[in-house]
Amino acid sequence: MTQLLFKNLELLDPRWDAPRGGYQVLVEGETIREVSAKPIKAPKASVVDCGGKILMPGLIDSHVHVFLSEVYLRRLEEIPLTLMTARSAVLVRGMIDRGFTTVRDTGGADWGIKIALETGLIPGPRLFIAGRAIGPTSGHSDARRRTDNGLGCKCCNAMTFCMEIADGADNVRKAAREQIRQGADQIKIMVSGGVASPYDPLDSKQYSIAEICAAVEEAEAFGKYTQAHAYTPEAIQRAVSNGVRTIEHGNLIDEKSAKLMAQKGAYMVANLIAYYAMKERAGEFGMTSEMLAKNELVIDGGLKSLEICKRAGVKVGFGSDLLGQLQIDQSREFLLRSEVLEPIEIIRQATLVGAEIVRMEGKLGVIEPGAFADLIVVDGNPVKNLGLFQEQGKHLSAIMKGGKFHKNRLN
Ligand code: ZN
Ligand code: ZN
Repeated sequence: MTQLLFKNLELLDPRWDAPRGGYQVLVEGETIREVSAKPIKAPKASVVDCGGKILMPGLIDSHVHVFLSEVYLRRLEEIPLTLMTARSAVLVRGMIDRGFTTVRDTGGADWGIKIALETGLIPGPRLFIAGRAIGPTSGHSDARRRTDNGLGCKCCNAMTFCMEIADGADNVRKAAREQIRQGADQIKIMVSGGVASPYDPLDSKQYSIAEICAAVEEAEAFGKYTQAHAYTPEAIQRAVSNGVRTIEHGNLIDEKSAKLMAQKGAYMVANLIAYYAMKERAGEFGMTSEMLAKNELVIDGGLKSLEICKRAGVKVGFGSDLLGQLQIDQSREFLLRSEVLEPIEIIRQATLVGAEIVRMEGKLGVIEPGAFADLIVVDGNPVKNLGLFQEQGKHLSAIMKGGKFHKNRLN
């Protein structure tokens, strides 16, 4: 098996507070074989001289949508699946260029694009999928017009492809099973209103307890877990007390619901940049004033939610949730969070916590023997300067996924 020996580097293990010099890392095939503070003996290995730069695990974004290539979701009605896939290839390439070697898609992406990425047909990160996002009629998955009473064929356009509408516990159960049949890694449900959907107030309670339980039970029956789109404390409590494992967004969380999440060991996947980017530019891409008004209701909660979660001991994952044209802002999430968190805490969210969320502890988000060789080489110390993650990967000298270079300007 091919061996690569990374030398002359400072290692940033996210469990530490700062990078440490003198380390070497041996990659064999697709995994890391050895990490040592002493020189590693590997006479057959090709040497990669990192020029004293920082080597760290590849980044993990726990909330993306690789198929939602339009900010105004209803425009996806005009996108055939061939164009949806072609656009997605550009979006996922942008993600790995920015150093994200793993992303979790929270509604839309299917096993087809996952296999295209796994087999290297399309360059991009590892992908964990939910299949279609499942929500009730008139809920956050329901982007239909008021004049449209039908459900639409699932294979006609990108909008119907990415969303699933199911009402009643039996139908939710069936929809969850269907996503599992289609290779979902996790099940996504909607339990409160959302910003980018037309007819659901943010504080609407989407899904009854019986419907939430049906999704959770089916996910668990197949060894998977459930993630829920939720903004309000009530929605968070309804979801988490019935077994939902990750809360997506959670902007309006309060102390009580945070305490419940900590007790249950649930994860929060915050995504602040989505709201700022929508406020700045979503209007240009057709998002309606009703949606932008909903955005105003949650934007201020973002930073506060991080502080509440920290105080309550809730683990928070790094998410971006940017739609289509706004996805280039993905790494700005680091800068926004740095208003209330230390850079190393945010780096942990985008590595260690991300790996826990996708249940790949020890395999992703770390540089240690047995882990996948998913790593980046940064042109400076991100613990001191999160600006190094900005500008579309400009400050990353190397990006490797599964032992293969996506980018290498070392040597
Ligand atoms: Zn959502
Ligand atoms: Zn989302």
